[in-house]
Amino acid sequence: HHVLKTSHYGDHETFKHGVISPKQMIGDALRRRVESIDPELCGPGEEDTFFVADLGEVYRQHMRWKLNLPRVKPFYAVKCNPDPKVLELLAALGTGFDCASKWEVEQIIKMGLASERIIYAQPCKTNSYVRYVKAHGVKQMTFDNADELYKIAKLYPEAELYLRIMTDDESSLCRLSMKFGAAKEHTSGLLSVAKDLGLNVVGVSFHVGSGASDPMAFYKAVYDAYEVFEQGRAYGFNLKVLDIGGGFCGDTFEDMAAVLREALDEYFPPSSNVSIIAEPGRYYVSSAFTIACNVIARRTVEDPTARDNKSYMVYVNDGLYGNFSSIMFDHQHPVAKVLRTGKSTLYDLPSANACPEGQGVRYSVWGPTCDGIDRITESISFEHELDVGDWLYFEDMGAYTKCSATKFNGFSDEHDVIYVCSDPGAKALLGL
Ligand code: PLP
Repeated sequence: HHVLKTSHYGDHETFKHGVISPKQMIGDALRRRVESIDPELCGPGEEDTFFVADLGEVYRQHMRWKLNLPRVKPFYAVKCNPDPKVLELLAALGTGFDCASKWEVEQIIKMGLASERIIYAQPCKTNSYVRYVKAHGVKQMTFDNADELYKIAKLYPEAELYLRIMTDDESSLCRLSMKFGAAKEHTSGLLSVAKDLGLNVVGVSFHVGSGASDPMAFYKAVYDAYEVFEQGRAYGFNLKVLDIGGGFCGDTFEDMAAVLREALDEYFPPSSNVSIIAEPGRYYVSSAFTIACNVIARRTVEDPTARDNKSYMVYVNDGLYGNFSSIMFDHQHPVAKVLRTGKSTLYDLPSANACPEGQGVRYSVWGPTCDGIDRITESISFEHELDVGDWLYFEDMGAYTKCSATKFNGFSDEHDVIYVCSDPGAKALLGL
């Protein structure tokens, strides 16, 4: 049998010849939807942007995690994409959940999960939310400053506290350490305040920045955490959990994991009896979501000096104020591909992809709002001439996209998600 291995699914997942591949499954779902819509006749919003989510991809990412970081229990960062099916699958897989607000905690509690599976990983918490998590028995939470310790002493002295330390996040896509994390020179003082207040510090946490690119950032952070463990023990705390945060990306995961394994084995070997948890967000969901957007308008660019071929501005029905908020908030560069032009669906065909600049037809791609910053792509060329009613698609749209979409200009912030599941293991868990 010919065995087709997809690029980044790892050795444990293979797709036998004759069995539909994840790409085919996603393509079928996209095709079915866009071919059912007649842009000439459809009702308002029927041509709205929509997602196809492959839960099998989330499942494979979990298996890949277990293979590479078997000692580290993931607490999925709900903020990244609180999609209910993703949460359901991860709950069935046994992960914990990193929640940053009352609403996120509520989503997990509503699923009937034990409160030990939640960490309220927000160093600067809202009073009423602290009372809320206390009422629901969610004990684990992070802190990084003395004022927060006084707050916790007043509202929830039994909480299990993680001291979040600052990291070097210079090489990360989204830096967090300018806002959160105790500097090295302050950790001892904070532990002393916690001791005086009779609080229960159980661990140390860090976050190397979202979209980290330097594995050594993890190594250094694990070492720094080790030093704080030593400080904590000197104050008489029984520190038993290290939280290595998020920041993992699909592209570099194996490299990061290799460095982490080494650092953990050096500073927190199994014999230390320290459990290790993490708060991955984008790692789990980024590649699982593909979005399709409709071309709602087109403007021919009149430039008599332009030597090159035709050029258009195309306007699609999603943009920076919607699911492409990741361009603004998450420093992403989503890449447009042609899903359907005229009566042809091109998903995953070579001609769906951009062609070299100077060939084909050149486009800039704009969102639907009245704001000039609402531009998805400055310049991209396709061999096809796009027109109103055509569809574009963008892959890797699962992280920090729909969760930060707004209703600006009256465009909906709620879009259909068509779920597919390309993995039998995930199907079994979800009862599909
Ligand atoms: N944990 C905390 C405290 C965060 O602030 C974030 C993201 O900002 C995450 C986890 C998830 O990070 P990522 O999606 O990069 O894994």
